[in-house]
Amino acid sequence: MKLIPIINAYFKAPFFPVLNIVSVSGGKDSAATLLRAIECNAPNLMAVFADTGNEHQVTYDYVRYLECQTGVPITWLKADFSKQIENKRNRLFKVIRGEFVRGKWTRRRAIRALKHTHATGNSFLDLCIWKGRFPSTKARFCSTELKREVILYKLQFPLIDQGFKIISWQGVRADESLDRSKLPMSDHIGDGVTNYRPILKWSAADCFDMHKKHNIDPNPLYKMGMGRVGCMPCIHCNKAELRQIADRFPKEIDRIESWERMVGAASRRGSATLLTSDKRGHGIRELVEWSKTTRGGKHYDLIPLTEDTTSCSSVYGLCE
Ligand code: SF4
Repeated sequence: MKLIPIINAYFKAPFFPVLNIVSVSGGKDSAATLLRAIECNAPNLMAVFADTGNEHQVTYDYVRYLECQTGVPITWLKADFSKQIENKRNRLFKVIRGEFVRGKWTRRRAIRALKHTHATGNSFLDLCIWKGRFPSTKARFCSTELKREVILYKLQFPLIDQGFKIISWQGVRADESLDRSKLPMSDHIGDGVTNYRPILKWSAADCFDMHKKHNIDPNPLYKMGMGRVGCMPCIHCNKAELRQIADRFPKEIDRIESWERMVGAASRRGSATLLTSDKRGHGIRELVEWSKTTRGGKHYDLIPLTEDTTSCSSVYGLCE
């Protein structure tokens, strides 16, 4: 990918050695970080948004609004797993032909999975079809595969190869998780990239104040009862959030229900669920019903949903 012309178009100049790049998720923290970068007059400022394919349309609209209101160009990126899915199809063919393949696939399961193993173009769904499972609070590969790697390999590394140094602005707050509280304000990670976390000591209220100060609306999803903005639902979604999503955005639940069918069909086990690690596989529809109860759920393995998971604990600040 030739990024020099793109960068030149952004800055109307032939060459700038240092780029300030803000990772934007559509949430309040990253928006506040972008506003802080503007306040600091960070030179050669741009932002990047990694589209997971599992966001609400309101968030997509908000990212465009943010670009429009701030005037800072936001580059949209998304992961592509078509090669991995093709490789998985080749492995399934081998199982069906009786050739030796690592893993515990049966021929019957492989035939069924092969039928359903196709790239859809939606990054989140394709990641799950490739892996044959959804990410979980214990296997949190989504943020890495859908955001971090994409930003590194599709934007930052190509820019570094072309001679740029990068200051990566991350909207991480210490009070969100233990992991985040241990982060330094800034660290040089080599390869020409320096991480900078200007809102590390800020509270959530500080972030909303920053929006007010700059006359920028926060993502409307907050006013619609969402405690976090990002995937809908995020794997860190709690019971109350799930209920809010089901009440306000039932189509998102329908979408996840159909994704569970698709990923399950492409998996070795024959089933897959977004929100539980329960081997019995309680799907999203059943969990929505449970989310409407006041004291129910004891008979399910619903720990991820009952824990007070107020935020993604990823230290990269790419998800809220
Ligand atoms: S942690 Fe949540 S918001 Fe981040 S990629 Fe995973 S599901 Fe999406």
